[in-house]
Amino acid sequence: MDLVIARFREESEDVFANIHLKAYSVVDGGASSSLRAVVTALEAYESLGLPLDIIDRLNIVVIGGSGGFQVDHLISLDVEHLANNIVLLANTLHELAHIWISSTLKPERPEDLWLSEALPDFLMVRALQTLGYSETAQRIISKNST
Ligand SMILES: [Zn+2]
Repeated sequence: MDLVIARFREESEDVFANIHLKAYSVVDGGASSSLRAVVTALEAYESLGLPLDIIDRLNIVVIGGSGGFQVDHLISLDVEHLANNIVLLANTLHELAHIWISSTLKPERPEDLWLSEALPDFLMVRALQTLGYSETAQRIISKNST
């Protein structure tokens, strides 16, 4: 078993619509890139009319090993995606949607858990279309429907 202790080198902060944003990264430039992606994602969700006021703070960490995950007020983004803005943005939209949805939707039966992943993907695709990335959204829909 490998034990990895991340040493976060960067911290970046911002406020968007009263949401306090704080980003940490293990690589140079990771905190500012991820913060930009989160602000872009929040702008897209705001233009879709999602009530963002249920989120008061977000911590963003950039580490490796997965596409991303969220827990409470924490979003993790994969360091591997920093160089690809659209993948970083798509993952950010997905994880951010988890945070928004998890406060309202908690499927109790295992057979309903697909909703927990399908809705973030749906919102991600809608937001990508809003931002003018319809082709990327179409590619994601095609990939996920096979
Ligand atoms: Zn997910």
